[in-house]
Amino acid sequence: MEIPFGSISRRDFMKYCATTAAVLGLSELEFAAKVSEVLAAAPGKPPVIWLEGQDCAGCSISFAGSLYPSIAAMLLERVSLRYHEALMAASGHVAERALHETIEKGGFVLCVEGSIPTADDRFCMVGGRPFRETLEEAGAKAAAIIAVGACATYGGIPAAGPTGAVGVSKIITNKPVINVPTCPVHTDHLTGTILYYLTTGKVPPLDKLGRPKMYFGELIHDNCRRRSYFDNDTFLSDWNDPNQKNWCLYEKGCKGPDTNSDCSVRRWNDGLNFCIDCGAGCMGCAEPEFYSGMTPLYSAEGERSRKIMARKKAGLIPPLKKA
Ligand code: SF4
Repeated sequence: MEIPFGSISRRDFMKYCATTAAVLGLSELEFAAKVSEVLAAAPGKPPVIWLEGQDCAGCSISFAGSLYPSIAAMLLERVSLRYHEALMAASGHVAERALHETIEKGGFVLCVEGSIPTADDRFCMVGGRPFRETLEEAGAKAAAIIAVGACATYGGIPAAGPTGAVGVSKIITNKPVINVPTCPVHTDHLTGTILYYLTTGKVPPLDKLGRPKMYFGELIHDNCRRRSYFDNDTFLSDWNDPNQKNWCLYEKGCKGPDTNSDCSVRRWNDGLNFCIDCGAGCMGCAEPEFYSGMTPLYSAEGERSRKIMARKKAGLIPPLKKA
């Protein structure tokens, strides 16, 4: 079977399908065929608008820089990215016209990166206009809305500042917003969510925080390779002591027991590693309380960490059963 995905090899594509097919209850081959069929049969490429509010463009970089498989490249080849401030060639009035013509026609996928200020519109003006207004206008005509990364989902780091930053679902309240958090977004989470929508025409099953259950259904803590040390109260206290290098990072501020994401299984950077395996505790960036509610990030002296330990002592975080 030929998979018509430009620069993506069939092998790469099939490997990607393995992670997403299970969610749809399809075999890898069935999923690959379905994606292929849907995108090939589409009358033109599905239009996508990517807006940026209060952000650092880190999610754009994460998405565009995915190493393996280069699904971002596949999507960029197979969808029509009509507006993206960091990636589009057009600028000025030409770019703004493309944006407004696409909004006018409707039926596009709207990806939003960055938070929205509520204290004063002047905190985020794009093209001489409050970002909030553009978001409301685009949201009203979008076929699907995806909030990309911690800032767009729940406010993220900007919510710790003076702008009254909130996520997309606080502005667009009359239709579903798919929240794909983490800082930055994991490219598998985003591409998988977009592919799910393109292949089924539906929003994937979401948890109560609007996150796709397929990626945010389990705690990082429950799949962490340091978990046995947590269960045995063996916590790393000195990063410079090689004897402690595999110990649990709770005392160094790890919020893995309170964070739902598949990071510890999927890992990051082409499956190479992720925060905890590099020796840095989880910052809880998949949760609405990130950033302020997760501080201090590198010690267990904050309220969040104290509550984790209180739950452990009360037997509410029982040791994992050995397989
Ligand atoms: Fe892993 Fe963090 Fe849980 Fe320790 S507290 S087991 S490092 S997720």
